[in-house]
Amino acid sequence: MTKTLNIIGGGMAGSEAAWQAANQGISVVIHEMRPKVGTFAHQTGNLGEMVCSNSFRSDDNEQNAVGLLHWEMRQANGLIMNIAEKHRIPAGGALAVDREPFAESVTAALKAHPNISVSYDEITELPDDGHWIVATGPLTSDALSASIAKATGAEALAFFDAIAPIIYFDTIDMSQAWMQSRYDKGETEEERTAYLNCPMDKAQYEAFIDALMAADKTQFKDGETAKYFDGCLPVEVMAERGRETLRFGPMKPVGLTNPHAPDDKPYAVVQLRRDNALGTLYNIVGFQTKMTYGAQKEVLRMIPGLENAEFARLGGIHRNTFLNSPTLLTHDMKLKTHPNLRFAGQITGVEGYVESAAMGLLAGRMAAAEINGDDLPAVPQVTAMGALVSHITGGADAKTFQPMNVNFGLFPPVDGLKGGRKGRKDRYKAYTDRAKAEWLGWLGQEKLAAE
Ligand SMILES: Cc1cc2nc3c(=O)[nH]c(=O)nc-3n(C[C@H](O)[C@H](O)[C@H](O)COP(=O)(O)OP(=O)(O)OC[C@H]3O[C@@H](n4cnc5c(N)ncnc54)[C@H](O)[C@@H]3O)c2cc1C
Repeated sequence: MTKTLNIIGGGMAGSEAAWQAANQGISVVIHEMRPKVGTFAHQTGNLGEMVCSNSFRSDDNEQNAVGLLHWEMRQANGLIMNIAEKHRIPAGGALAVDREPFAESVTAALKAHPNISVSYDEITELPDDGHWIVATGPLTSDALSASIAKATGAEALAFFDAIAPIIYFDTIDMSQAWMQSRYDKGETEEERTAYLNCPMDKAQYEAFIDALMAADKTQFKDGETAKYFDGCLPVEVMAERGRETLRFGPMKPVGLTNPHAPDDKPYAVVQLRRDNALGTLYNIVGFQTKMTYGAQKEVLRMIPGLENAEFARLGGIHRNTFLNSPTLLTHDMKLKTHPNLRFAGQITGVEGYVESAAMGLLAGRMAAAEINGDDLPAVPQVTAMGALVSHITGGADAKTFQPMNVNFGLFPPVDGLKGGRKGRKDRYKAYTDRAKAEWLGWLGQEKLAAE
């Protein structure tokens, strides 16, 4: 059997996957289309180029899920984290880097590795045989996107994300909100109470519409034209179409009775839907938005019950090619219908440099173990790596699947700890302690399996 692993895309995920597999003795070819074929966001031909901000976000591995992901990657000799450390610039608690030297060093490290070669070509068709990782990111070239759509079904590949904000359930004030599906629809009690409802009276609704329309919005970049459909219009665009549009759309109050005030008919209702199997995260239905992050927090906390809401992720609409991974990928990131192909990085429906590199790290190790004939143990779900990969390959609701950052809402709860904001510090410390122990255990077992 060939020991070569081909990786399409030398961005965050592809670079990390190549490094990990090459370190396990696998011969790796990275196929990168830049600089021959460009994208609207990349500026250079470097591998591991950061397309926008120069930050890998929080480096706090005790209280922050992305900081924990940094830590887990460092323990696994992650290329992106090692090189980021070398080019670190002061940024408070964040890990920010000098971007050009960073990408130049990633490129140099990969090219210097005896097991890695780089082929500067665009791959236009999904290959039928051999071992491949597809890590072509949010700006996958048109030809390859068409080939992926053919293999997965067009409806399973999205070209824009339309992200509604996601909130930690335990920060919602349930003395104002209540659980009920519209018209109590559903066969089981769970279905009849599937939605979380936040009521508004007329004055609250009018003030909310004013704030939505006045809020700061982000603009699309050149080349990132917004071809969003009527089904996923930003909430503020719906509001601009008429003050009553939302009350007859996602905020309609019909079929709902507020148990806290059964005689008061709400004027409008904001509905939230469970976003993960654990029930720790809820998304605001129909609230995809181009409001700036600061404006979102301010405006959405005007919703009764969400005054103290903490956001696992804020909303957005971007050019973003991604798969409906919960239906398409196996737990070890292979395309169910084409097991010679693994996917990694942002195209799998994670969001961000760190998350993409992390999924590259896992895909590289999984592919290497397979080629070497090793039995790789499952990644524990209580680690940041495991929480993320479990979410995209099964934990997320496939019907509403949108890209996700790593956050503590993806972690199975630790028993016996206080919920809400007050218990947060202890809870996060417990999550990170547990994750670290399990990640070291997994790396140890993985090493044993390879011996
Ligand atoms: C405009 C924009 C701004 C962003 N800003 C941020 C930010 O500030 N912070 C953040 O964390 N994340 C940001 N992201 C998300 C960011 O792109 C990802 O987090 C990260 O780069 C994804 O890593 P990746 O390896 O999956 O994809 P990429 O890093 O994009 O790498 C994919 C690589 O595949 C190559 N490629 C594509 N198609 C082919 C093909 N057919 N053949 C060969 N090569 C191919 C591309 O040239 C590219 O090098 C942004 C995304 C966009 C589009």
